[in-house]
Amino acid sequence: MGKASRDKRDIYYRKAKEEGWRARSAFKLLQIDEEFNIFEGVKRVVDLCAAPGSWSQVLSRKLYLPAKLSSDSKDGDLPLIVAIDLQPMAPIEGVIQVQGDITNARTAEVVIRHFDGCKADLVVCDGAPDVTGLHDMDEFVQSQLILAGLTIVTHILREGGKFIAKIFRGKDTSLLYCQLKLFFPTVTFAKPKSSRNSSIEAFAVCENYSPPEGFNPKDLHRLLEKVGSPSGGEDLDCSSGWLEGPNKVYIPFLACGDLSGYDSDRSYPLPKVADGTYQSLDPVQPPIAPPYKRALELKKASSHGIRDHLEKLSLEP
Ligand code: SAM
Repeated sequence: MGKASRDKRDIYYRKAKEEGWRARSAFKLLQIDEEFNIFEGVKRVVDLCAAPGSWSQVLSRKLYLPAKLSSDSKDGDLPLIVAIDLQPMAPIEGVIQVQGDITNARTAEVVIRHFDGCKADLVVCDGAPDVTGLHDMDEFVQSQLILAGLTIVTHILREGGKFIAKIFRGKDTSLLYCQLKLFFPTVTFAKPKSSRNSSIEAFAVCENYSPPEGFNPKDLHRLLEKVGSPSGGEDLDCSSGWLEGPNKVYIPFLACGDLSGYDSDRSYPLPKVADGTYQSLDPVQPPIAPPYKRALELKKASSHGIRDHLEKLSLEP
């Protein structure tokens, strides 16, 4: 798809470039904030799966830059924002970057060290695996990222803090909801207006972190396994047996963002400049080392190989 064509079909892609966001995902976090006021009182944040960095930009613009500009803010008072991703990310003012895998305990340790014994007020996770199109598989891999995020949450989030995580809606959504409810009394699944209806993505907005009494983060997986299992977990909230039939759980689901605002599934006319043409903007910050880079290099090398071979045979490529 050409740039202008994508600009027409994807209003949030175009708006992201106009407003200086690295990705259209920025609007998802902004719309979640409009509904849930997630940044109120926040001084320390972890941004999991952050590249190319539009959520970190939102955090920097909403939390770090206003504090830096405020005359009574000293260096030690400035908000702490730590961003993690497998991919490297171009710098963002006020954001500390860690390159690593969130499912790896060592990455979690590096993040925790940055907090130097303090706790975070907010953890956000927009992690997504490379989507295969096989819904069950994608949903499973996505749920592993959420569980990795939850592991980090149990080590670093203060009581009362919030956790926002991307989810893929599927057959295990109720199970995931119940697992999150073990730690957060309020869990809402939200669909920001900038997230396409055709996409199975939504966001779990988990408020007021309250781990079970005596909870030890080492027991997380054992505890999660009990939820929804027919044989166990009777003592746990929303887990009296399997999550089907009479025990089916109804999940609070909310559309968010200005509902009279832009619709991500609609095409919008392109604004013309004086000479009647449309000027498409370049992306704000192309990814530094995207996973598809190697694939493109291999594709290029193989097409050169074919060309060389045809030249040797004196055939037109
Ligand atoms: N929130 C980002 C933004 O606004 O720019 C977009 C995040 S993008 C949808 C998903 C990211 O998840 C990718 O950058 C990918 O590298 C990252 N990711 C996937 N699996 C990961 C893992 N195991 N550890 C760390 N990052 C991971």
